[in-house]
Amino acid sequence: MSDMFWEYSGGGYAGGGSRSGGSGVESSAKIDILEDRIDRLMLTCMAMWSLIQEETKLSEEDLLERIKAIDLMDGVADGKVTRQVAKCGKCDRPMSPRHARCIYCGHERLVMSAFDTLV
Ligand SMILES: [Zn+2]
Repeated sequence: MSDMFWEYSGGGYAGGGSRSGGSGVESSAKIDILEDRIDRLMLTCMAMWSLIQEETKLSEEDLLERIKAIDLMDGVADGKVTRQVAKCGKCDRPMSPRHARCIYCGHERLVMSAFDTLV
């Protein structure tokens, strides 16, 4: 199960033998890989939701309502969660969610949620 998520299905996109196409070919291959990962994530989300519905009394309306509420947590109803630029807890400078430590003072970023570690 765990391999399904974190590894690309081996050797899928080297195709054609020539790399002379440059970054356009590489970008296209990366998009294919990302689409494949999104498809697998969607399948897994649907399976999890199906199990949750079987085991609880939660309805489709409950899910849609929660999606709306979480969408609005970043202040914009745009169908996605936009990561906010956090401030360093020590020096108060802006801190990228991609960095585990402040690039100015080295202070370690606090993980407040399991989703903080997903960039
Ligand atoms: Zn800092």
